[in-house]
Amino acid sequence: MLTLQVQKPKLILEDGRRTDGRRPDEMRPIKMEVGILKNANGSAIVEMGKTKVLTAVYGPREMHPRHLALPDRAVMRVRYHMTPFSTDDRKNPSLSRREIEISKVIREALEAAVLAETFPRTTIDVFSEVLQADAGTRLVALMSASLAVADAGIPMRDLIAGVAVGKADGTLVLDLNEEEDMWGEADMPIAMMPSLSQVTLLQLNGNFTPEEFRAAIQLASKGIEELYKLQKETLTSKYSAYKEVN
Ligand code: UDP
Repeated sequence: MLTLQVQKPKLILEDGRRTDGRRPDEMRPIKMEVGILKNANGSAIVEMGKTKVLTAVYGPREMHPRHLALPDRAVMRVRYHMTPFSTDDRKNPSLSRREIEISKVIREALEAAVLAETFPRTTIDVFSEVLQADAGTRLVALMSASLAVADAGIPMRDLIAGVAVGKADGTLVLDLNEEEDMWGEADMPIAMMPSLSQVTLLQLNGNFTPEEFRAAIQLASKGIEELYKLQKETLTSKYSAYKEVN
């Protein structure tokens, strides 16, 4: 029987750089835009390198079926979904167990930020579509969802910014690409409400020593600060332009 063995590629090259040319503490190029869909109450697209996620928010609106409504707050419903063309191999368009789990962690992170008690008996529906996947999709989805919720005018405690930090060939690396996600020794997505210093998502695949864990949090915080600044600028530039016209 012929067995194919795929060799782990070198993730940190001789010059200390990563396979895509970045330094270990460098993030991929980031782009953000809000208010891009006419039919949604709020929308955003966020790109980190080749990872691209579009989010549409509908609501607060009447809950159907009605018996699922809550008397004291809005119900958040989140669907994270990868389009069939988002990955190298065609992805089955139906929701996988992984997508159901990621929808749940994104919902829980958003629930910490949204002031749902402002809109009792309603629902806020969040649809995140991964257009292109190259690692970090849950965080890019969460950031675009938090921007889209803000764009819908829904009050929030804070925006949510997040980045993955991991270990590749024994080196701590910020914002993993797909190769590092697949072959690295650790992958830890972390998201925060930065101005409240509250973590709303933290998962860990692989392992860190306690010292590495502390250093990883420091490294992630640096990236999160940069992402948060960009999120605020994205919202401010849209709404200050709006003010000038009206
Ligand atoms: N991926 C894929 N097909 C799948 C699921 C994942 O190609 O069905 C790739 C995709 O690039 C994704 C990466 O594997 O970004 C890492 O997936 P993971 O489950 O770690 O989640 P993510 O890092 O995207 O939040």
